[in-house]
Amino acid sequence: MDIAVIGAGATGLTAGFELTKRGHSVTVYEKSEGPLGGLASNQTIAGAQIDKFYHHIFTSDADMISLIDETGLSRDLMWKDARNGIFSGGRVHPFTSPTDLLRYRGLSLPGRVRTGLAVLRAKGCRDYRGLEDVSARDWLSANAGRESYDKLWRPLLDSKFGEDADSVGGVWIWNKFKLRGSTRRGVDAESLGYLRGGFGALYDRLAELIEQGGGRVVRSEAGDISKDAGGGLSLAHGGGRERYERILFTGSPHELCQAADLPPEYALRARSVRYKANICLTLITARRLSDYYWVTVAERGAPFVLFIEHSNLFPDPAFGVRGFIFLSRYLDASDPLFAADERYIADVFFSYLGGMFPEFTRGEIAQYEVRRARWAQPVVGLRHSERLLPLGTPLEGLYIASMSQIYPEDRGQNYAVALGRRAAALIGG
Ligand SMILES: Cc1cc2nc3c(=O)[nH]c(=O)nc-3n(C[C@H](O)[C@H](O)[C@H](O)COP(=O)(O)OP(=O)(O)OC[C@H]3O[C@@H](n4cnc5c(N)ncnc54)[C@H](O)[C@@H]3O)c2cc1C
Repeated sequence: MDIAVIGAGATGLTAGFELTKRGHSVTVYEKSEGPLGGLASNQTIAGAQIDKFYHHIFTSDADMISLIDETGLSRDLMWKDARNGIFSGGRVHPFTSPTDLLRYRGLSLPGRVRTGLAVLRAKGCRDYRGLEDVSARDWLSANAGRESYDKLWRPLLDSKFGEDADSVGGVWIWNKFKLRGSTRRGVDAESLGYLRGGFGALYDRLAELIEQGGGRVVRSEAGDISKDAGGGLSLAHGGGRERYERILFTGSPHELCQAADLPPEYALRARSVRYKANICLTLITARRLSDYYWVTVAERGAPFVLFIEHSNLFPDPAFGVRGFIFLSRYLDASDPLFAADERYIADVFFSYLGGMFPEFTRGEIAQYEVRRARWAQPVVGLRHSERLLPLGTPLEGLYIASMSQIYPEDRGQNYAVALGRRAAALIGG
């Protein structure tokens, strides 16, 4: 069959690869310029190939690991034990292991014990459906205690979800606890994986394999998807139209509604899943700022929620002694900061960074890049399962496989790969 895949991110390229293996003629369309891979694509900065938005994988990410293996890149997959921290009360506290939690001075001893028990309860819960009706806020307050919610979890939920924080479902937090536990090596170590040269290398390889299998990767926005007279589908791109038997769309449901004329009831449902945007600043410093990989900022009003010193966990010869750091902020796309001038964003972020690391001076900044993603994180709300779109759409032959359909897990490359495989099996037999 002639099949179009719209979107060259993890989901689209995996689906394209699977469909090519099944002998179909595949064309992948990608509207963004620059490297392939969507949110997981690379940037070249200070001579290094590194993700535009920080990424790692977990030891439990079986679909992702098997795809890396299948594409011949497993020799480039590195596993390292991460040192994580939490910034609160003006300093970074170690926060990798249960022992770190017990030693954490930001909470009273009973608060720490209740938090630990809540994590264990979440991990022991096998069926997420009981958590569909309870918000993360209520579940955490009831199980970890009000103190833990106010001092630890509320600043995190607020930073990540803003005005949607109170409606985030208990399933989302359950999944976070479960996932972190699944990548432990022993009690105190957390093992994280990274692809040498950035995950973009995997997406370039998939595109290469699709082309070797006779397919095409076209750098163009696809839209105006409609039924044609012969019973197939057609799409417009670059001033022309092409005909396909099947089309798989892998952008957000909101983008799908712009690209195809779909019935109003379906469009209403598709647009009901809210998405947060993300600003991610990659910073190169003359020296390393900490000995942590991942620091969560648990302070209300902080301009970013994550400080990730990538060079501490996955050093690359191109980094030398320099620090490669990501500062990440989730926000509504309507927040004026999302559209703000890069220098303004950098100024806000660097002022706060100077408070986190008082020895850090702006003179140490060698380079920085500001990246923005409009469709970065679906908000997993209460009874999210009722909002989930099926892969098929009302337009026969048109399918959607997007981050918002990943549930009860949260978005991630592993689930994108699994979804791409599922969509390919459904569409291409
Ligand atoms: C800040 C951040 C940090 C993350 N950290 C991690 C992590 O540590 N580990 C991990 O595994 N995952 C992480 N993720 C999640 C991971 O990046 C995603 O789950 C995954 O990349 C989603 O892939 P996708 O193909 O579904 O979507 P996308 O990557 O969004 O790809 C969709 C593609 O469709 C294209 N498109 C849309 N409409 C059209 C059109 N009309 N025509 C042509 N092209 C179109 C878009 O340009 C885009 O390239 C992170 C995400 C973010 C934002």
